[in-house]
Amino acid sequence: MTYTGNRGLMLEEPLLFEKGAPDRCGVDLPDLPAVASRLNGLERHRPIGLAGLSEPDTVRHYTRLSRQNYAIDMGIFPLGSCTMKHNPRLNEKMARLPGFADIHPLQPVDSVQGALALIDELATWLKRLTGMAEVAMSPKAGAHGELCGMLAIRAAHDARGDARRVVLVPESAHGTNPATAAFCGYAVENIPADARGRVDLAALKARLGPDVAAVMITNPNTCGLFEPDMIAIGEAVHAAGGFVYCDGANFNAIVGRVRPGDLGIDAMHINLHKTFSTPHGGGGPGSGPVVFSAALAPFAPLPFVRKTGERYELVEEEQALTSTDHRDSFGRMVAFHGQMGMFVRALSYVLSHGADGLRQVSGDAVLNANYVLRSLEDVFTAPFAATGPCMHEALFSDDFLDGTGLTTLDLAKAMIDEGFHPMTMYFPLVVHGAMLVEPTETESKAGLDQLIGALRSLASRMKADPDSFRANPHLAPRRRLDETAAARKPVLTWREPGVPAAA
Ligand SMILES: *Cc1c(COP(=O)(O)O)cnc(C)c1O
Repeated sequence: MTYTGNRGLMLEEPLLFEKGAPDRCGVDLPDLPAVASRLNGLERHRPIGLAGLSEPDTVRHYTRLSRQNYAIDMGIFPLGSCTMKHNPRLNEKMARLPGFADIHPLQPVDSVQGALALIDELATWLKRLTGMAEVAMSPKAGAHGELCGMLAIRAAHDARGDARRVVLVPESAHGTNPATAAFCGYAVENIPADARGRVDLAALKARLGPDVAAVMITNPNTCGLFEPDMIAIGEAVHAAGGFVYCDGANFNAIVGRVRPGDLGIDAMHINLHKTFSTPHGGGGPGSGPVVFSAALAPFAPLPFVRKTGERYELVEEEQALTSTDHRDSFGRMVAFHGQMGMFVRALSYVLSHGADGLRQVSGDAVLNANYVLRSLEDVFTAPFAATGPCMHEALFSDDFLDGTGLTTLDLAKAMIDEGFHPMTMYFPLVVHGAMLVEPTETESKAGLDQLIGALRSLASRMKADPDSFRANPHLAPRRRLDETAAARKPVLTWREPGVPAAA
């Protein structure tokens, strides 16, 4: 025990309000001039209660907090399904160019031709990489892209007067898929998985019919497996009059190798903040462009960039639609034009890799995940390892902890003591105590060996001495938290001790 609570240069850091004092200030403000109040008695009489701190105290506060945080710049972020890969600094440099960073969405179109050219060029890359006819750039995240795709599907059914009510979703799907379908007014039904962790094709075919509007399928799926029956699924769905929505969040595993358009997919979102390396999580906003097949292209949303000769325009109004462009657009879903900063970062990433480099991205992502899978399968339980290689993420269950009384949660907490961010836990729901590890292509073999070594060591220590793993983490600034109370009763405002809530 130390006096400061320091563990390895990590000081116990109080809240700004607890550190501050009313007589301290980081700036030297001139005295207020005497002016007659025009607030008619509404002016504040009490201090506003901001923490008083000097500049160095403030800088140290945030720097100390940042050191208690885990970041992709500190170590591997093995979160499966999230594709937490390195964000190249070059992208950041490009996004800060004043011609991109300092423009306003309401500027005259003639003054932002370069920005529109960039959106158009990124759109061309996304269409080429996916083999699709059209792309909507404006959706602001993966889930928002799902909504965009499903609204286009609903518009296409409406246009032919077809009131289909059901969307089929595999049980391994990301929670956003059924949520999106329900938000669009559809009833959601599960498609079961087969013993190989893939969509049960026979069960899917048996359920198709005139009430099914679409299936939403993730490929590669959330077990980290490729759906080999994708073409057969698409043919069956189309024959029954439905559309195929693909959750493209896992495009990182197939970019440059498989074109979703060749698999019979009608709409798919692309998470620029996963596959195309723009920062996410605590690091930045998302961006979820949606690509469309020729059948759905006429229903794509507003706004979009149109190039006529050498000039770019923004098509914002339905009156500006032509018979060739978004003819039956379902309308608009964002105020402006999408996440410009993410577009710049994504195009910077695409151009710095080139077509061959993007192909290597998927190859290396899959290689790294299989290295993790094969290095751990003798000590962890790998439910689908016998069906062949995985794609970009390796799935384990907690069966190897049977008899210890320990669970996936205990392993995750122990990983924190080893200096790692835990992997995705308890998702997908199709295996018990799931652990989904996605190393991404940007991790070196040495980095993976360090993670694998720690996980192998934990697996054997947890079996040998389970009791010492019930209260991890021991080395983090906080131990086990009441996560339910934190989520249900968050304390978001600081109150001066002794001052009642209503004051
Ligand atoms: C990340 C993810 C989503 C949602 O994307 P957001 O950008 O977080 O909205 C949907 N499906 C899968 C499989 C994902 O991994």
